[in-house]
Amino acid sequence: MITEYIKVTPQDTEILTKAGEIIRSGGLVAFPTETVYGLGGNAYDPKASEKIFAAKGRPGDNPLIVHVAAPEDAEAFAYTNETYYKLCRRFAPGPLTVILPKKDIIPLSVTGGLDTVAVRCPSHPVARALIKAAGVPIAAPSANISGAPSPTSASHVLHDMDGRIEMILDGGCCDIGVESTVIKIEDGVCTVLRPGDIIPRELCSVIPDVRVAAAVTDPTAAGDKPQSPGMKYKHYAPASRLVLLDGDREQFKEYVNSQKGKCAVLAYTEEIGNFTRAFVMDIGASGDAHTQMKRLFSLLRDTDSLCADVIYAHLPPKTDEFLALYNRIIRAAGCDIVKL
Ligand code: AMP
Ligand code: MG
Repeated sequence: MITEYIKVTPQDTEILTKAGEIIRSGGLVAFPTETVYGLGGNAYDPKASEKIFAAKGRPGDNPLIVHVAAPEDAEAFAYTNETYYKLCRRFAPGPLTVILPKKDIIPLSVTGGLDTVAVRCPSHPVARALIKAAGVPIAAPSANISGAPSPTSASHVLHDMDGRIEMILDGGCCDIGVESTVIKIEDGVCTVLRPGDIIPRELCSVIPDVRVAAAVTDPTAAGDKPQSPGMKYKHYAPASRLVLLDGDREQFKEYVNSQKGKCAVLAYTEEIGNFTRAFVMDIGASGDAHTQMKRLFSLLRDTDSLCADVIYAHLPPKTDEFLALYNRIIRAAGCDIVKL
């Protein structure tokens, strides 16, 4: 298949109409969102979701998020409730995904066999224009080959999806750089299944009782039946071994400088001059969680061309602000953590 790659703005009505038509008729279009690039198909068409799983090599029990242009559009395929609308009033459109009971119109192939469906209303103008042009909700996981770092630019998508899908819409780099916060609500308790840019403390302003699923910070806690199937799979892994170092900056510097092999380091901006023999990549200032989230996946992809024996990075703190970064990087490293 020839993949059409097109630069697009929200005003490019002709291109977006064509992309919407591809989705409505069962094809796949990758598109930018404020979190990462999504790989979109018609959420009502089981064949389209099968194509998504095939293009990504994604395990069939890892459900897709269904994207809508407005929170009330979820009524067509999910049983909504007052808490959902309260959350939407505060956070939609934006990087929040809410798990709701599904209606029959959503095929089980979209939800990985679950009786619930994940709903998100993205804020990116191209994503919103595409959903409107398609006229159907769009099922879309991240547009990467399963297991690879999520794509934060259209060139990442092209690298992974060229020849596998009908179209890639290039709307520039993603602002946030990590996937949406995924939550479920049960008996008035909000559980964060996947952390993202919307942090637990912010959710507390709408639902006072917010908990974080154990598997967010400890993948081995996911067990055989995790609450969110995506928790159990290897994720975001670069080609080289990624090792997280748990220690202060001085210990980090000494450890990296004492290594013999060909190594790369994801260093804080303040310490990029500290390394004598590693290839240094700037992940952002030590306290700047937003910049670090925005750069993480892109830097992990960049390390692939270095053919390094090992990549070192700091183990982030487990605070609210760094929770998404912590969650992604420990999975990228396969929990390979060295205590200094
Ligand atoms: P991705 O599409 O790569 O952003 O991954 C979607 C994430 O949402 C995965 O971690 C899924 O496990 C999670 N997810 C989607 N639908 C559900 C659902 N019905 N229940 C729990 N988690 C879900
Ligand atoms: Mg993904």
